[in-house]
Amino acid sequence: MSESIGSTGPGMKLHTKILIGLAVGLTAGVTTNLTVGVDNPTVEWVNRYIAGPVGQIFLRMLFMVVMPLVFASIALGVAGLGDIRKVGRVGGKAIGYFFVTTCLAATLGLIVVNMMKPWERVSPETRVELMDRFAGDASTRVEAAATTAKFGPETFINIVPRNPIDAAAKTDMLAVIFFGLMFGAALTLMAVEKSKPMTDWLEALNEVVIKIIGFAMKLAPYGVACLIFTVSSRFGFDLMVAVAAFVITVLFALALHVGVTLFAILKLGLGLSPLVFVNRVKAALITAFSTSSSSATLPTGLAVCETQLGIPRKVAGFVLPIGSTMCMNGTAIFEGITVIFLAEIFGVDLTIPQMAIVMIMSVITAIGAAGVPGGSIPLLVGILTMFGVPGEGIAIVLGVDRILDMSRTTVNVFSDLTAAVFVAKNEGQWTAADVPTLK
Ligand code: ASP
Repeated sequence: MSESIGSTGPGMKLHTKILIGLAVGLTAGVTTNLTVGVDNPTVEWVNRYIAGPVGQIFLRMLFMVVMPLVFASIALGVAGLGDIRKVGRVGGKAIGYFFVTTCLAATLGLIVVNMMKPWERVSPETRVELMDRFAGDASTRVEAAATTAKFGPETFINIVPRNPIDAAAKTDMLAVIFFGLMFGAALTLMAVEKSKPMTDWLEALNEVVIKIIGFAMKLAPYGVACLIFTVSSRFGFDLMVAVAAFVITVLFALALHVGVTLFAILKLGLGLSPLVFVNRVKAALITAFSTSSSSATLPTGLAVCETQLGIPRKVAGFVLPIGSTMCMNGTAIFEGITVIFLAEIFGVDLTIPQMAIVMIMSVITAIGAAGVPGGSIPLLVGILTMFGVPGEGIAIVLGVDRILDMSRTTVNVFSDLTAAVFVAKNEGQWTAADVPTLK
């Protein structure tokens, strides 16, 4: 997946257009809400015949590709692991680091969102109204949500689909992920001449899906404007305060993960001062922040590892490329918080076992997401569907996603670089004394 999701040609940047869409939809919606009120026949007409349909078409364009995307990216991810396994010990250490830090990140996200409860900024009346308004939407996906609600032997049995096509048709994410995992694992055990046509096909499928998401994203500025209008004309300013609280929650959790978890790994585990580390890798962090893409940051990451930290090229050249697609600590935090926030806003009260599933899904989908701007959004849509959260929620997130994407990508890259130090140190190929002194 090389191309940015929703990349546009020359002219105004897509994220600027989405932001404008958000501003226009929001201003129109809130003004309508404060002046004529939502029960006005003209407003009802606009919502029913214009804003509603445009918003829904945009959402459906995204929903339609979720299942093929999940299947192809998970199967390809596992098929790619086959090579790493051959590389053995170093690969094992890198993947161990990716997995553990991503789990820590997702857990932290869930703790922070449950402490800060950004959804409480929405008044109880608005929440009741939101639930009523979107109850129909939610009930269409209630079946999927219900399967995640009960926790027992079935939770595990249901992960294995009887029929993968049926599972995909019911948007049963866990079952499709399981099938993807098996599919990828089987590919790694086959002779390359036999598996290659299938991996090529999966790669092509992946590209096709990314292109379709690109089409959908062209619609995003209008879709977001319409969806936000529908929501804000009905609920006014109240909801927007909650969205601001949501953004602050995500940024706080990201900062905490870097400041506590990753700093502790650097300082206590690797004997490297976090401040020296940040100072040395800042070019990569700035690139990540400005491009919102782990993949685009790869060349800078490799350069700083080698020249600024003294990490041997063969270690960084191995760890960073895999890390840029597999190790997404910031994305896992973002996904977990977003799912819980939107679920609460739309009246889907998640139980503790369901939150555990949210955490697992955030980890898996963060591993599966492409390192491009908005790479995690389609997978996030998949998790929302799984919990019966109405699709309108994604519009709220897309409107503010640019700043969140920039921030989470910086955390993703921070963790990739820490992974390179971790593996180099554990392989006995680097110590803090190898950091070159700069003139
Ligand atoms: N933009 C992120 C990255 O490249 C992926 C995402 O979370 O959307 O790391």
